[in-house]
Amino acid sequence: MNNKIKVVCPYCKKINAIPKNKEIKKANCGSCGKSLLETHPVSIGDNDFDKIVQNSDIPVVIDFWAPWCGPCKMMAPNFEAAAKKFPLKAVFAKVNTEEYPYLSQRFGIRGIPTTIIFKNGTEVHRVSGALDEHSIINTVTNFI
Ligand SMILES: [Zn+2]
Repeated sequence: MNNKIKVVCPYCKKINAIPKNKEIKKANCGSCGKSLLETHPVSIGDNDFDKIVQNSDIPVVIDFWAPWCGPCKMMAPNFEAAAKKFPLKAVFAKVNTEEYPYLSQRFGIRGIPTTIIFKNGTEVHRVSGALDEHSIINTVTNFI
């Protein structure tokens, strides 16, 4: 039985294998050495989107946003705060749709911000519009 989970480092995006079924007090990235427990949203784009979504054993929560979008700016601190609540439980990532229009097109993003949750590489949930911290936490908790 596989007793490890694959987790993406929020700093260098390296895939780490972490032991499962344990109260983990400390987990550092095998590549950059930073703590995997200090979760924060990681920016991803065309070249690492699939690597991260396909290789994560925990849900990947992605905020599709753009720098010119007011509601996206309002939501950013909420997304950041929610990310801290899910160390080794969920990966939080952001896609700048202005920088990566192909990804936005690929997932049929019609308005931003749009939040999509992926599990085992597949989209399992999508919400449009700016979310507050509690809504993000509640939504993500449903997929843990
Ligand atoms: Zn790292």
